[in-house]
Amino acid sequence: MPLIVQKYGGSSVADVGKIKNVAKRVKRTAKKGNKVVVVVSAPGDTTDRLLSSAYEITAHPSEREVDMLLATGEQISISLLTMALHSLGCPAISFTGPQVRILTDMAHTKARILSIDTERIKDELKKGKVVVVAGFQGISREEDITTLGRGGSDTTAVALAASLKAASCEIYTDVEGIYTADPRMVPSAERLKKISYDEMLELSSLGAKVMQLRSVELAKRYNVKLHVRPSFTNKEGTMITKKRLRPRGALPRRGLEAPEVCGVTYDKNQAKITIQSVPDRPGIASVIFSKIAKKNINVDMIIQSASLKGLTDVSFTVAGTDLKKALPAIKEIARRIKARGVASSKEVAKVSIVGVGMRSHPGVAARMFSCLAKKGINIEMISTSEIKISCVIGEKEVKKAVRSLHKEFGLGRS
Ligand code: ASP
Ligand code: MG
Repeated sequence: MPLIVQKYGGSSVADVGKIKNVAKRVKRTAKKGNKVVVVVSAPGDTTDRLLSSAYEITAHPSEREVDMLLATGEQISISLLTMALHSLGCPAISFTGPQVRILTDMAHTKARILSIDTERIKDELKKGKVVVVAGFQGISREEDITTLGRGGSDTTAVALAASLKAASCEIYTDVEGIYTADPRMVPSAERLKKISYDEMLELSSLGAKVMQLRSVELAKRYNVKLHVRPSFTNKEGTMITKKRLRPRGALPRRGLEAPEVCGVTYDKNQAKITIQSVPDRPGIASVIFSKIAKKNINVDMIIQSASLKGLTDVSFTVAGTDLKKALPAIKEIARRIKARGVASSKEVAKVSIVGVGMRSHPGVAARMFSCLAKKGINIEMISTSEIKISCVIGEKEVKKAVRSLHKEFGLGRS
């Protein structure tokens, strides 16, 4: 009997009516002769609300207690969903993360899974029950409740699918799948039927917030077949597998040698920082960026300008939400290395094109730059990898950039 793991996000279980709908879908899957394990998130914005209560009490709540609090959200969903299944005559049982020994490290609010004891789940499946597991939570060796970071239910689902060797892991969400671009910004954006893990990883890290990044990494590592599907319709969604398959003999839509860009994404949560007139000598970059790393600030793109009279400008980007935290540290570094000063801007954004087919197509970057140039959009920074090219541009130009790139690479419906 094939085993399917289904994960339903918070918006899919936001109220009792929605929970009943989920129960119907779960029952249908079981009726087809599958063993089913269901992972659910907390209803709607429960997690946000719980967090804001904590911050109403103190600006620095204990992380252990935050986990204790947040883990209650998912417990609401598992119990209600299981009751809904019972009322449909579908045998089912719910478990919290600790009950099925989702063992994690002790890093409260961002714990990593070490192992899962699947015995209890397998026993219940054997009895013909649907097993409903709380997402996002586990237990440490010290027997403390932990959580896996925001969006962590995806990771619970993939980890369960890997441990139970499930045939597939279905992620039900409030979007219809993965698109060639944000459909709210690009009306002609099209749903992708298939996409590779690598492309999905680039898309999620570039701001397409459909799944928690970690969960896609995990799926890739254990070769878990992922299927992102809408929970409110029966549409097919997007399959995420090892590589994007093209039926044998079929020509790509845009000709055999056309570069395969699968999507255009953007991220407005970006800030650019420039340390001006830095003495240009060996070891300076290492000093700057190890200090920033110690503050736990993620640096994305880095540019060092050509050296002029032994001085150079070092620019880099961080998440916009990190700027406040980053600036004092960076100003201090600048003083210490005797740089002239620090400038920063939040009015920047990153647009990126993604696709495995770019690996062997050297002309793609040039085509991206000339497309932006034609629209009069200034590129402030560039970074490339085998399957993605990103440009930092002014935040006001994002919509224009995304739309023209989408068109330039022949994506979406024409
Ligand atoms: N409820 C948690 C959150 O809001 C986990 C999840 O939804 O995946 O982040
Ligand atoms: Mg989510």
